[in-house]
Amino acid sequence: MSDVAPGGSPTSHYKRVLLKISGESFCRSGESGISMAEITSICEQIRNVVASGVELAIVCGGGNILRGKEFSAVSATINPSTAHYMGMLATVINGLALQDALENQGVSTRLQTAIRMEGVAEPFIRRRCIRHLEKGRVVILAAGTGSPFVTTDTAAALRAREIEANVVLKATRVDGVYAEDPEKNPHAVRYSEISFQDVLQQGLQVMDAQAFHHCMEHNIPIVVFNYKKVGNIGRAIAGERIGTRVVPASQIGNATEG
Ligand code: UDP
Repeated sequence: MSDVAPGGSPTSHYKRVLLKISGESFCRSGESGISMAEITSICEQIRNVVASGVELAIVCGGGNILRGKEFSAVSATINPSTAHYMGMLATVINGLALQDALENQGVSTRLQTAIRMEGVAEPFIRRRCIRHLEKGRVVILAAGTGSPFVTTDTAAALRAREIEANVVLKATRVDGVYAEDPEKNPHAVRYSEISFQDVLQQGLQVMDAQAFHHCMEHNIPIVVFNYKKVGNIGRAIAGERIGTRVVPASQIGNATEG
């Protein structure tokens, strides 16, 4: 699917991509917090493919630091809304780390947040975000939607529509969408492509329900892939056929989209 440009960078068949990276990819397996070594390896892949001209916005999660639902469940004295705001701030911490790691590798970036915090980052302004993308800057979108009780999956789906991204790339720990849980059945079949309707009918897990329905309603393809395999983030952005593509039924078997 991807070609190699004269400079050696893979060219992407997408014009504009929204990449959702969960917080767990910001730390070592089984740990929490931030590992700049892990982030740097992600950034190397991003640098190579962005050089080819694909426009890239990244929504980062915060689960390596705090998830509102989990934190409020174990902390009787915290208001659930407060816990979710803490989770959103965790995504800003990750966004700052990602920004510096990318800039260190010569990638021009902007960090935009859904909760205003002048002095740290720009506010998310749709038209400004798109302008940055058009100028070749990677835009990191942090603080989720700015509202509690949802996850950064939902932020990714909403922002993808706002910025008119061609696809949502969902980086996970598994190779894609399986007919059964691959951790329970090692022989479970992985789909290379599946329709939104079939995901629903079979009760499969792709993104959180709100995010999934938003993408389905607005025909935004989702690619679920394993970020732990070296090079996969770059391949996914470049549009190589890895993981599982979730698409409208009318696009099954059609390799390119909008
Ligand atoms: N969060 C929120 N609103 C949003 C996005 C995130 O309240 O729009 C909070 C929520 O508590 C969530 C936490 O931020 O658990 C971190 O995000 P998420 O769980 O999506 O991170 P990930 O699992 O992707 O690392």
